[in-house]
Amino acid sequence: MPGRKKRRPLLRRLLHACFFILILVRPGSAVMAGEGEDRTVMNNEPKRSALADMNNLKITVIFDNNPFRPGLTTGWGFACLITGTEKTILFDTGADGAVLLANMKELGVDPAVIDIVVLSHAHRDHVGGLKDLLAVNHAVTVFLPRSFPAPFKNRLQQAGVQTTEIDGFAPICDNVYSTGELGVDPIEQSLLVHGGTGIVVITGCAHPGIVKILTRAEKLLQADKILLAMGGFHLPEKSPEELREMTAAFRRLGVRRAGPCHCSGDAARRIFAEEYGEQYIEVGVGREISGNELE
Ligand SMILES: [Zn+2]
Ligand SMILES: [Zn+2]
Repeated sequence: MPGRKKRRPLLRRLLHACFFILILVRPGSAVMAGEGEDRTVMNNEPKRSALADMNNLKITVIFDNNPFRPGLTTGWGFACLITGTEKTILFDTGADGAVLLANMKELGVDPAVIDIVVLSHAHRDHVGGLKDLLAVNHAVTVFLPRSFPAPFKNRLQQAGVQTTEIDGFAPICDNVYSTGELGVDPIEQSLLVHGGTGIVVITGCAHPGIVKILTRAEKLLQADKILLAMGGFHLPEKSPEELREMTAAFRRLGVRRAGPCHCSGDAARRIFAEEYGEQYIEVGVGREISGNELE
């Protein structure tokens, strides 16, 4: 009958509906469910064939309040250099630029090799060295959480520094990612290196909670093994019982090696050392961790 809309056969309508359902649930395009503050969107499903070769990876601690290698200066804060990845990355800058640059010199690290600076959070003991670093290498790109204070971001912009603001899960370079902004006050991002045999998680202070960050890291990269979790775990007020429960949570998450430093606290370092034994990585200024130690 002219003018009357012809109904499609039931089978075709069902196939049509299935097609749209498949599009909506396609892995890699779904918004990750999580707590209210998370705005994580997973756009790129990691390709296993192109994962980082962990044998090339090297992490060098440039700034920490714990000593490790003689001849270097300790100071409250954290910074480490990541090499062997597509880009050379400085994660955090410590509290003091003079100490940061002096330690780099002593370690034979030329600041000019740094392509990217990732700032975990806006506390001074993580961003304090940035100004002096920029004075000797202005060509870096600074990846910082979008929630950083406006005056901080404006100063970088006025100085002509290239910046990338991070809110959700985002790539930094090949196989290196930011967790995206986590937590509330302060908001913090952590760094993830995705290798063929597992992931490495580096935290600044872990204010959002170290177990929460590690859980999120595994979910984001669809991994069930963390080769190494290192950095500030922020556990200074935990009781020995709570710390032992935390090491058990690390084990449940498949964390193979732990390297608490900076604000983790002496008690946490002692208990992680006891619980992890040979898999405990003592981290202090000048510590170099190479990827082949982690396999
Ligand atoms: Zn800190
Ligand atoms: Zn902090």
